[in-house]
Amino acid sequence: MDRRCFLKIAALSSASAALLSPAPGAIARGIPAQDFPGGPLGKCYAPPNNPVILTTLTDLFKIGPGPSSSHTIAPLRIASNFRETVAALPAETLNQAQSIQAHLFGSLSATGRGHRTDRAILAGLMGQKPDTCDTALMDQLEDTQRSYTTQIGGKTFTVDQSTIVWDQVKHTYPFSNTLIMRLMGPDATVLFEREYYSPGGGFFQWKGQPAADRGQPVYPYGNMAAFKQLARDRQKNLDEILLENEKAILKVGDAEILAHLDQVLSTMENGVNQGLSEEGVLPGPFPVYRRAKRLYQSAQNASDGDGFMNRLSSYALAVSEGNAAGRLAVTAPTLGSAGTLPALVYLMKHQLKFSQDAMRQGLLAAGLVGFLCKNNASVAGAEVGCQGEIGVASAMAAAMLAHASGAPLDTTEIAATSALEHHLGMSCDPVGGFVLIPCIERNAFGAIKAYNAYLLAKNEIATQHWEDLDRVILAMLETGRALPAPFKEMGTAGLGVTMVNC
Ligand code: SF4
Repeated sequence: MDRRCFLKIAALSSASAALLSPAPGAIARGIPAQDFPGGPLGKCYAPPNNPVILTTLTDLFKIGPGPSSSHTIAPLRIASNFRETVAALPAETLNQAQSIQAHLFGSLSATGRGHRTDRAILAGLMGQKPDTCDTALMDQLEDTQRSYTTQIGGKTFTVDQSTIVWDQVKHTYPFSNTLIMRLMGPDATVLFEREYYSPGGGFFQWKGQPAADRGQPVYPYGNMAAFKQLARDRQKNLDEILLENEKAILKVGDAEILAHLDQVLSTMENGVNQGLSEEGVLPGPFPVYRRAKRLYQSAQNASDGDGFMNRLSSYALAVSEGNAAGRLAVTAPTLGSAGTLPALVYLMKHQLKFSQDAMRQGLLAAGLVGFLCKNNASVAGAEVGCQGEIGVASAMAAAMLAHASGAPLDTTEIAATSALEHHLGMSCDPVGGFVLIPCIERNAFGAIKAYNAYLLAKNEIATQHWEDLDRVILAMLETGRALPAPFKEMGTAGLGVTMVNC
């Protein structure tokens, strides 16, 4: 179905939004305080007054090389931004320039080697962009003996491993993942520098960054309760709200947005296909073997139940293994969790036979859940642990399947809520700091839980359901804050410790 049909369906769906929505009053589903005297340690829930969400689908679903959104895609984007900024400097500054330095702090310094952070920075300085990145070049950049030349603003620079400075792991910058890029002149003078941060999900920002030239959303909301109220009051459906907001914030038309959605879907599908065809050992300091192809093949002769589980797991493993090998993947919401959503995408397209329009609509619902989690908690393992990566990915996938199946907004919310709720407390403890163990397998579990959450939600009576998405997101934030730092992506706790021999 073409773009016009997709938009028409979105518009028609809005006409039925009122019918699909629950009666007013079904928004707040907390347990009344009088049923629970005193509450837990005197604490209770007050509806949050979250700021209006300005994140777009383009921000959330970023395409780039693996294995890590915060440690690979963001550094590549940062280096690319620095390259463009340097190219625009006055000629007298550029004339004095001799070299470029990239200082890595915090988790970037601690685990950057395993996450190809150095290669990403070199690639970005050499003019590579994440979504069109030559992954073969990224493989070549492994050679630490080689130097490369690159033209920036008409000036030739040499970049190599001496460009990368593995700086302090403990620091006082406001973000754990800090990267300071410097343009160096004679006698080690700093001609220009920019202090960048990688807060997760492939996003980046820099100190003193001016506000982006963006528009305001047509339908402002800050949390799920406000979104549902908006849908009821304005008689709009999820697709329309997301699409209209995206256009208004980015100041683009339907064509650009739909092209991006299709690119995201095809990158996910390609990732599964490629991963199901590859075998052998993944790059890394210890041998982790690919399993996706073998699992997929075993599914062909398995019983219905086992076959379904094996296939869904194999799709998730295929993308996650590819991500670990540095293939292109989509942040959904991060690269560590890049296999969960594609597993459901592949299932929906190839087994459940959803149309392209339904897939797009599902992706919009996944986007909504990603926005809420990113803005009202975090999608960074370094901030809230793995619940913010695999947990959010699972919630996005559950919402995608529910919404694409034509479920009411309440059911879509319950599916997302259930998937996220049952990842609460999950720490981030990658062995050696590499996105291998437990990350790859965790994506398969995220996909399975997403499907189960969808089934539970589909059979739930919405008005009888207690948990709502806003409360569970808040619980994720609280839990993440309470998690000790070693359980947040440093690879210095949990499996990161017990899997390593003394
Ligand atoms: S354990 Fe989870 S949060 Fe940590 S790197 Fe792996 S996927 Fe990301």
